[in-house]
Amino acid sequence: MTTNNYDAIVIGSGISGGWAAKELTEKGLKTLLLDRGRNIEHIKGYTNATKNPWELPHRGRATLVDKTDHPVLAQSAYLNEINLDYWVDEKENPYTQVKPYNWMRGYHVGGRSLMWGRQSYRWSDFDFEANLKEGIAIDWPVRYKDIAPWYDYAERFAGISGSLEGLPQLPDGQFQPPMELNCVEKDVAARVKKLYEGQRNIIIGRTANITKPLPGRTNCQYRNQCMLGCPFGGYFSTQSSTLPAAMATGNLTVRPWSIVTRILYDKDTKKATGVEVLDAETNMTYQYKSKIFFLNASTFNSAWILMNSATDIWPDGLGSSSGELGHNVMDHHVGGGASGIMEGYEDKTISAAGPMEFIFQGTAICLATNAITSEASATRAARDAKAGAGKLLS
Ligand SMILES: Cc1cc2nc3c(=O)[nH]c(=O)nc-3n(C[C@H](O)[C@H](O)[C@H](O)COP(=O)(O)OP(=O)(O)OC[C@H]3O[C@@H](n4cnc5c(N)ncnc54)[C@H](O)[C@@H]3O)c2cc1C
Ligand code: SF4
Repeated sequence: MTTNNYDAIVIGSGISGGWAAKELTEKGLKTLLLDRGRNIEHIKGYTNATKNPWELPHRGRATLVDKTDHPVLAQSAYLNEINLDYWVDEKENPYTQVKPYNWMRGYHVGGRSLMWGRQSYRWSDFDFEANLKEGIAIDWPVRYKDIAPWYDYAERFAGISGSLEGLPQLPDGQFQPPMELNCVEKDVAARVKKLYEGQRNIIIGRTANITKPLPGRTNCQYRNQCMLGCPFGGYFSTQSSTLPAAMATGNLTVRPWSIVTRILYDKDTKKATGVEVLDAETNMTYQYKSKIFFLNASTFNSAWILMNSATDIWPDGLGSSSGELGHNVMDHHVGGGASGIMEGYEDKTISAAGPMEFIFQGTAICLATNAITSEASATRAARDAKAGAGKLLS
C-alpha cells in the first residue's frame, strides 16, 4: 500500500464522520479521515473551557463588532466571545439567502459535534409512517423495529441520559440515569399530567451528557459550558468519543486542513476511485485512492462536493440521476418558545447550571424549552446578568 492508498476514506470528521471512522477502523480497515479545518485536540484544544468570565476581555459576551462580523450567528443564541473561533468566519465564507435560513457551521476536526445541543431522541413509528399516512413524498423503507437495535448500539457507546417513560411517540432507549427536573419543573409537570390526564407530559430531556462514567470519560459535572468542548469528556463529541476509539485501533490517519474538492469517478468501472484534496495550508492539490468512501461533510458541503464532482456521465453532480441532488433541504425551527413566572418559589434558586432542558410532549410533537423558572430565580438571573456574573452560555 502506498501512502496515498487507503481501505476507506471518510470525508468530514463531525458527528457522522467520527462514527464512520470508528466503525471502519474497528473492522480493521486502514482509514483516512479528512477534514477541511484545523485540528482541535481533546482537552488541550479547548482553550477557553475553564476560564472565568473575568479572564475574558468582554466577560464572554459578543461585542458589537462580533455581531457585525457574524450576522447569521448573531441571529441565534450562540454568538459569544468565548467560542467564536469554533464557528465559520462569515466574511470568509458568505452565502446567499434567497429565502432566509441560518447556516451554522464549524470547520474543524470534530465539526459541530463540539457545539451541538446534544438532544438525542429516537424516532417512533409515528415518524416512520407519517409519509405513508399523510401521502407525502415516498414511504420510508424501514420502520422503528428495524432501526431500534442501531439506536441501542449508538446510545450505549455515546452515553445518552434520560428517563424511561413508556411513551409510544418517544420510544425509550438504553439510557444512563436521567438528570432531574428542578422543583418548579416538577410542579408544572405534575399539573400538566393532571390537566391532560397523562396525554401530555413534561419530562427531562434525553441528552448526550453522561451521568455515569464511560471508558476515558468522566460523568458530566453540570457546568453548562458544553459548547466550549468538555475537558471531562462529559458529552459525546468526535473528540471525546469516536476519535479516541478509532485512534486506539492503530488504523486511523487524520488529515486536517484537507478540503475535499472532488470525488474521482471511473466511468468504465462506474465506481468512485479517489478524492481530490486541496491543502488549506499549502494550497497544494493531492489525490487519495480507495474503494470505500463515506461522505460526511454535512448536508450542504456533501451536496457541494457531489455537485463539484460532475462529469459527462453525471452532468449535475455525482449520483445526480434522480435530479434531487441539492434539493429538499429542510431547516429546523429554533429559538421560539414561551416563558412564565411561577409564584410560590420565591425562596428557591438554581444553584447548579445543568446542561439539560425538559421537553413538553403532546401526542406526537415535542417542544424543548428551559423557560420555566421561579420568580426569585428570574429576578436573581436578571440581576446577575446585569452584573455580568451570570452563566456564559445558557
Ligand atoms: C448549535 C447547534 C445545536 C445543535 N443541537 C442539536 C441537538 O441538540 N440534537 C441533534 O441531534 N442535533 C443538533 N444539532 C445538529 C447536529 O450538530 C448536526 O446534525 C450534526 O453535527 C451533523 O453531523 P455531520 O457529521 O453531518 O456534520 P458536521 O458535524 O457539521 O461535520 C461536518 C464536517 O465536515 C467537514 N467538511 C465540510 N466540508 C468539507 C470538505 N469539503 N472537505 C473536508 N471536510 C469538510 C467540516 O469541517 C466538519 O468537520 C445542532 C447543531 C448546531 C449548530
Ligand atoms: S455541563 Fe457537563 S458535559 Fe457540559 S461542559 Fe460541563 S461537565 Fe462537560
